[in-house]
Amino acid sequence: MSTSDGAPDCVVIGGGLSGLAAAHALLRAGRTVHLVEAADELGGRARTSWHRGRPVDEGFQVLLRGYREVRALAGAVGMPRHDMRPISGGAVFQHGDRRHQLAGGPAGIARFSGLSGGERLRFARFAAEVLRRPEAALAEPATEAQTAAELLVELGFSREAIDGVFRPLFGPILLDRTLSTDPGYFRWLVAMLARGPAMIPSDGLGMVSDWTASSARQLGATIETGTRATGFGLDATATRVAQVRLEGGRTLRPAYTVLAVDPPAAEALLAEHDPGTVRRLPRDPAGTVTAAFALSEPLYRGKAIVLDCDPPADERDRVDLVCQTTNITRPNVPGGPHILLAMRVTTGGGPTDGIEDATERVVRRWSPRYDWMRGATHIGTYAHPFAQFRLSPEVRRELPGPRTALDNVILAGDLTRHPSAEGAVGSGHQAARIVDALLP
Ligand SMILES: Cc1cc2nc3c(=O)[nH]c(=O)nc-3n(C[C@H](O)[C@H](O)[C@H](O)COP(=O)(O)OP(=O)(O)OC[C@H]3O[C@@H](n4cnc5c(N)ncnc54)[C@H](O)[C@@H]3O)c2cc1C
Repeated sequence: MSTSDGAPDCVVIGGGLSGLAAAHALLRAGRTVHLVEAADELGGRARTSWHRGRPVDEGFQVLLRGYREVRALAGAVGMPRHDMRPISGGAVFQHGDRRHQLAGGPAGIARFSGLSGGERLRFARFAAEVLRRPEAALAEPATEAQTAAELLVELGFSREAIDGVFRPLFGPILLDRTLSTDPGYFRWLVAMLARGPAMIPSDGLGMVSDWTASSARQLGATIETGTRATGFGLDATATRVAQVRLEGGRTLRPAYTVLAVDPPAAEALLAEHDPGTVRRLPRDPAGTVTAAFALSEPLYRGKAIVLDCDPPADERDRVDLVCQTTNITRPNVPGGPHILLAMRVTTGGGPTDGIEDATERVVRRWSPRYDWMRGATHIGTYAHPFAQFRLSPEVRRELPGPRTALDNVILAGDLTRHPSAEGAVGSGHQAARIVDALLP
């Protein structure tokens, strides 16, 4: 038997960044919202757990300085600006025992010793060119080169520059070491990075969803976790959803529904009613595995990430990126534990096991005097086989928009834009604008 839980203006399915952003914007517009999230916690792919008072992101990720939608959301929910902690030291490129540091922005590029003078100038010109482009133009799919790697060749970068700088830097951002992403999206990412240092919120990435959920509740939202939407019941016209079915037999009867889930979940919920949208969902997964350690002694000082530019041939030994995140999130706190995240891109079938031992080996290689056995405690490993989708030019051209074949179901999620926190939050804001305009 089913029971009905009332009729909010909007049901939001999914409590990741996109669903929470949509819910918050609708509540600010004076609408009533009921959000259901299948997992026991909110945040979706951007979640943070805690270890002895320190935030531990369940997968290394950063917010880029140019993310306007994320900044707007953080402001709207009252997150203090100083809680967006810049990775002011940028990226350290570890080539054998040589290190080259690249801080964000054009000035950082001018000082970067990891490229020859000519390549540095080319990089600075490229960054200046993307910074001059209006954001709408950056959002357009590219028409020239087929992949980011081809674009770099077209721009005149040498094989050494691509393999020694662009692949180690953008491989962990795109979760694709082949750099086979759409060149337009790549340009957009370069622009986001060139605007200044990347950031991690002081309480980890989960801080954005935590604050958004708190603010949404204060604005009157009903938020249920551990509640999965299982399907839609249509009205007599078969073009509108009359009921959202929930696990356990309950139903909700909203005027509108924002579907803000990951691509496999969107497919499951839409397959019966909207094969056109389902065909356009991005399916090519980009994956990663991250091991988290608590260190009693810091491995390094400074607010920077470290990139391995000479990864070992054996994939099981590869660690693409290491970051002592507490240098950024807890910079002035004396004593440990210091949280170290070590990340490997697994897209294309890379192994998800052995990251813990590989981290120990990479630390021995870079810092032979560091006493890993004594100082490091493994606190968790987080595998995300579908962390993002691969955004090839074809996939980008085909991405579904926010409208579906069901008149009162609006699609949100990074799957409508691009695989990033900015794409997710922007899609949520867009879905809320559409619903608000359609509601009387
Ligand atoms: C390890 C990792 C690293 C990343 N690195 C970066 C980075 O550095 N920078 C960046 O900008 N982005 C990064 N991303 C991408 C970014 O985190 C995502 O694009 C963003 O979080 C997606 O948000 P979303 O709301 O679209 O989807 P999700 O976060 O997937 O949210 C969807 C939610 O819907 C819920 N759900 C699914 N089915 C149902 C159902 N039937 N009923 C109810 N709820 C349901 C899910 O449980 C989930 O909580 C990374 C992602 C990962 C995993």
